[in-house]
Amino acid sequence: MSSSKTDILVVGGGLAGCATAYYLARAGAEVTVIERDELNMQASGANAGSFHAQIPHITFLEEGEAWARNFAPVVEMLIEAIDLWRGLEAELDADLEVRIGGGILIADRPEQMRDIERRMSLERAYGLDIRALTRDELLQLAPYASAQAVGGCYCPIEGKANPLKATAAFARRAEEAGAVFYRHTELRALEAVSGGFIATTGSGTIRARRVVNCAGASGGKVARMLGIEVAVQGFPIQVNVTAPVAPIIKHLVYAAGHRLSLKQTANGTLLIGGGWPAHVDPDSGYPIVDPHSMIENLKAAQRVVPAVAGAHLVRTWAAVVNGTADWKPVIGEAPGHKGFYFNFFPWTGFTAGPISALTTAELVLGRKPSIDIARYSSLRQAA
Ligand SMILES: Cc1cc2nc3c(=O)[nH]c(=O)nc-3n(C[C@H](O)[C@H](O)[C@H](O)COP(=O)(O)OP(=O)(O)OC[C@H]3O[C@@H](n4cnc5c(N)ncnc54)[C@H](O)[C@@H]3O)c2cc1C
Repeated sequence: MSSSKTDILVVGGGLAGCATAYYLARAGAEVTVIERDELNMQASGANAGSFHAQIPHITFLEEGEAWARNFAPVVEMLIEAIDLWRGLEAELDADLEVRIGGGILIADRPEQMRDIERRMSLERAYGLDIRALTRDELLQLAPYASAQAVGGCYCPIEGKANPLKATAAFARRAEEAGAVFYRHTELRALEAVSGGFIATTGSGTIRARRVVNCAGASGGKVARMLGIEVAVQGFPIQVNVTAPVAPIIKHLVYAAGHRLSLKQTANGTLLIGGGWPAHVDPDSGYPIVDPHSMIENLKAAQRVVPAVAGAHLVRTWAAVVNGTADWKPVIGEAPGHKGFYFNFFPWTGFTAGPISALTTAELVLGRKPSIDIARYSSLRQAA
């Protein structure tokens, strides 16, 4: 490609970009995706694969009630997001290891139950099925939980899928529907011209009528090419994986007192994360593991599920998650920049990747979106 044309240019080949390309191409649109690396090499391929619907409990405690009230409507979108995942294996004709086993948050101090109740009342107001568990109910549902547990809560719609499979399946089906993918093609400059945009990449220019920014943690940098400021950032975090063990955990497990997400994959490994901070190497710019985070994350997992102590850690990796302070998505056409769209879902963009992409594609095509995105997106304030 030294000079080409397309109707819709999608920037970024993570879950957001590949799924957006799929929904656009499925509707018959002409789409080109550019990815500076290989597909699925950043957050979308390095995440923990959890489907989150609850307001993140530790962030709720740290940021407080006002933050949670502002974020709470997004719970509705997460419910829709997980509902869409239920049909994706059939739609994409691919095994994505989707399992909806429910999410359990475990408390080990009686006073934590008050915070759980406060959080659940916000979530219920937006339609989330979530209920408190007494100690006996918890141990019946989750016999693997520590004897120190005092109770918790249960959200039946949470679950997981395999991040190594999902983006690839969307990309495959998008390509079959006619989308063109240019890998190792970095967007370096973007200029608004009459009737669209000229994108300058490392391998030539592309003229496009519309552009969709799916650049994840680099979404702010791409927007700045048009002079748009959006408070999107990248945060290095890490995940641990153990060798396979016999089936013990069928839920997505959180803790009320520590940053934790814990689950067992289809092949028996335990994935232990929860957003513990990593570092960015100042020389290479690559994310690197923080050993202190690793130890504290594993300690938190063992405290809640003692059987974790019997599993061998095989790997800890770091990756950069796309984040915003309010955790709200930035989705839709940038005000004052006709034809330039954002598809940016922060922190839990694996869960919300498909619904965000479907909604973005609908907006780009001028159709009524399947969800009322104006209720959730912070685009108007952010742009
Ligand atoms: C360690 C970790 C664990 C996580 N766990 C979970 C979880 O359990 N559940 C959950 O719901 N979410 C989780 N997330 C968040 C989730 O992974 C992300 O929110 C989501 O993958 C974002 O998808 P994306 O496609 O927007 O971004 P990315 O996957 O980062 O993709 C953006 C792509 O754009 C490309 N790009 C950027 N700039 C340019 C340019 N100028 N030109 C061309 N290409 C460009 C990048 O190379 C990249 O491939 C986690 C994230 C991390 C890092």
